[in-house]
Amino acid sequence: MSRVAIVGGGVVGAAIAYELSLCADCAVTLLEREQPAKGSTGAALGVLMGAISRKTRGRAWELRQASLHRYDSLIDELQALTSRVIPYNRQGIVLLHFASGADWPQWQKLQAQRQAAGWPLVRWSRSLLQSHCPQLDLDRHDIDGAIYSPCDRQVDPVILTEALLAGAQQNGAECHFGAEVQEIISQPGQTGQRVSQIEIGSQSFSCDWLVIAAGLGSLPLTRHLQQPLALQPVLGQALQVKLPTLLGVPEFQPVLSGDDIHLVPLGGGHYWVGATVEFPDASGQVAASPEQLEVVWQRAIAFYPALATAEIVRQWSGQRPRPDGQGAPVISPLAGYENVWLATGHYRNGVLLAPATALAIRAAIAS
Ligand SMILES: Cc1cc2nc3c(=O)[nH]c(=O)nc-3n(C[C@H](O)[C@H](O)[C@H](O)COP(=O)(O)OP(=O)(O)OC[C@H]3O[C@@H](n4cnc5c(N)ncnc54)[C@H](O)[C@@H]3O)c2cc1C
Repeated sequence: MSRVAIVGGGVVGAAIAYELSLCADCAVTLLEREQPAKGSTGAALGVLMGAISRKTRGRAWELRQASLHRYDSLIDELQALTSRVIPYNRQGIVLLHFASGADWPQWQKLQAQRQAAGWPLVRWSRSLLQSHCPQLDLDRHDIDGAIYSPCDRQVDPVILTEALLAGAQQNGAECHFGAEVQEIISQPGQTGQRVSQIEIGSQSFSCDWLVIAAGLGSLPLTRHLQQPLALQPVLGQALQVKLPTLLGVPEFQPVLSGDDIHLVPLGGGHYWVGATVEFPDASGQVAASPEQLEVVWQRAIAFYPALATAEIVRQWSGQRPRPDGQGAPVISPLAGYENVWLATGHYRNGVLLAPATALAIRAAIAS
């Protein structure tokens, strides 16, 4: 048995714990300093922009495609295993297209590529968009149509994370909450340092592999291991609103996305609206700006005028872990160590890429 310790109980650590719990030769221990999904994951909207992303090749697309392939079966599997209902919108994503963008030829190219890979993208004219999504005010914008991606999804990130952890535990994984990893013990191995033990207060855990999936908390951990991974907190704010009736066609409630504003239907007249993208200052600090949230909210109202009458029932913010100086995410061995993997820095797409990350870690350390 290979003893695998995972630090971090956000969506990424939880997905890795679940995927490894399916391997007969892995004994999994997950350590989370708070409760599940209290970090970036707890703020996410769970929009899974896979097929509709502009990534066409290389690692960025391969990861998206791996997640697209895994997601539907993962949700079915978890619901059956844990008897939990995971809110998962299978009605696709509608991405608004603006005349000023003038990039229909590029979309056509992408459409052909995706079609060949088995992920249809459908171009909607302005009139087709209006008939499918009458909640949109097309007159106030230069929206000249949309791209509809029926294979893209949206999931509740917190409920998903909890279900992944419950599933992992049912499969034999040990999860410890309120367990902050402070000390990591290593010795020289054959090709580099080898981590053998992790300490939490007076408790210690032996391991053959360490996976650091601690989001922004990965920086202090890698610093402790003398291999600091530069990560930047990029803040996002979002809102939950309630309307007396559903927006648009009741039986067609996809995620609507335009100009970086997502409108996420939750059922019962509830919607998530977001999110801001706020970068840290020179000292690395970032505080939620009410003005930036107001900009997002006013833009959302301009697209969907009925929102003006909505009741705002919740407002929150979170910090996305963005790698500094390299692309997101970071899924790689930690330099100088022979048994440490990084699975972090997912920036704006951690919920989307969690299943693909888990598969990559499984391929790297399990047979
Ligand atoms: C407003 C907003 C909207 C977003 N919307 C989307 C979206 O629509 N789609 C999408 O794919 N992504 C979205 N994201 C991005 C997504 O939230 C992140 O990419 C993702 O949650 C990262 O997951 P994670 O598990 O790596 O990190 P986290 O969720 O931050 O989890 C890391 C965990 O590690 C724990 N930890 C840290 N240090 C230690 C330690 N020393 N010991 C023990 N535990 C430790 C923390 O407590 C935390 O729970 C959004 C983010 C924000 C802020």
